[in-house]
Amino acid sequence: MQTSFTKQQLENKENKSSESILRKCVHCGMCNATCPTYAINGDELEGPRGRIYLIKDMLENNKPANQTITKHIDSCLSCYGCMTTCPSGVNYMHLIDHGRNHVEETYKRPLLDRLFRNILSYTLPKPNVFLFLAFATKIIRPFSFLMPEFLSNSLNLMPKKIPSKKIKTQKIYPSEGKKTVARVALLTGCVQRIISPEINESTIRLLNRHDVEVVVLPKIDCCGSLNHHLGKRELAHVSFTQNIELWHEEYLKNGLDAIISNTSGCGTTLKDYGFILRNNKELKKKAKKISELTKDITEYLDENLKLKIKNNNEKKYKIAYHSACSMQHGQKIHDQPKNLIKQTGNIVLDVPEGHICCGSAGRYNILHQKMAKSLLKNKVENIEKISPDFISTGNIGCMTQIGSGTKIPIVHTIEVMDWLTGGPKPYKLKNF
Ligand code: SF4
Ligand code: SF4
Repeated sequence: MQTSFTKQQLENKENKSSESILRKCVHCGMCNATCPTYAINGDELEGPRGRIYLIKDMLENNKPANQTITKHIDSCLSCYGCMTTCPSGVNYMHLIDHGRNHVEETYKRPLLDRLFRNILSYTLPKPNVFLFLAFATKIIRPFSFLMPEFLSNSLNLMPKKIPSKKIKTQKIYPSEGKKTVARVALLTGCVQRIISPEINESTIRLLNRHDVEVVVLPKIDCCGSLNHHLGKRELAHVSFTQNIELWHEEYLKNGLDAIISNTSGCGTTLKDYGFILRNNKELKKKAKKISELTKDITEYLDENLKLKIKNNNEKKYKIAYHSACSMQHGQKIHDQPKNLIKQTGNIVLDVPEGHICCGSAGRYNILHQKMAKSLLKNKVENIEKISPDFISTGNIGCMTQIGSGTKIPIVHTIEVMDWLTGGPKPYKLKNF
């Protein structure tokens, strides 16, 4: 695609990167074929090609965002299905991130919109604040019928069960064996550690049982992606900077073989720290190192450890594997989670139309409920078609979203692997 940035505009490093992305696009429109918002709305501006044009126009013409542009940029799920389809290798992820920052810097949203986005931005990334919110919503939930639909739907996404166990903040979880084969840091996350603390517990247990020492740095919680995707650059960079400095210090002082993420949405952002901080003289090398060290837990297990399977069940479970968009499109992890489950002797079922988003997309199912519900309905229909015993996935957002639409239990892949290598059975599978 031809671009017409001026020399002066290209002195801005963000514009320079986006220009090289735009130049790769040949506007063939193949990406529209796999874009969920284009498929549902059938509008060119609701697809990747249309959004690319909108961003190009804003950046080249120093144009502030307006209500229409903001609507189309906001409605993108950041599922990155378009990147998998694009034959020209257009990095839509980096372009939409730039577009979102531009919208945030040049458009004043209506008051309620601003307020709601600010609430999400200040509560979700902080586990203690989110825990308080979870308590508060438990009290007001019985009165949700008095609230506008938008708010009562948001309440439904909050955890019904408040975690009774303490959030793990102990720094070192030693390996169980006499020798330690590796030492890794674990990102315990923000929302996930409140909604499903068992995911971190399973991760630590399984790694320790396989002679891996796990380090949890208590000051690290949010990876920064929530604010990053809301276009809140400064807030996101506070998380990025803190995480990079702390992990890098640990890497230099005590050594780290990997940084483990068990939420693929967060893992995608950690693996992008190197790019995001590329223009920061002080942090760019450290950020690059953190991205290189980052592995999804399934990727790490499949590539580094020989698992001690203890599946003595007579019954072979039919397990539907839901690949989160951030896993398959964001990190290009396809076979590793399925390889692990197959090692246990159970049957892995692929979900039909598995490349299409379930509608969770981080904050999306709160801010764009109509679209998120349509995508959820399609996802649940596709899962129910294959009649699995339960569903396995690697992203807390998908677990919450899909779990709200079906009675089929949904668990994290690491919970399945922990159980079938000697850990406790996940509580959601207690009737199996
Ligand atoms: S598929 Fe790629 S090259 Fe074609 S329009 Fe979409 S982004 Fe551009
Ligand atoms: S990231 Fe997903 S929703 Fe956004 S344009 Fe690409 S395919 Fe469409």
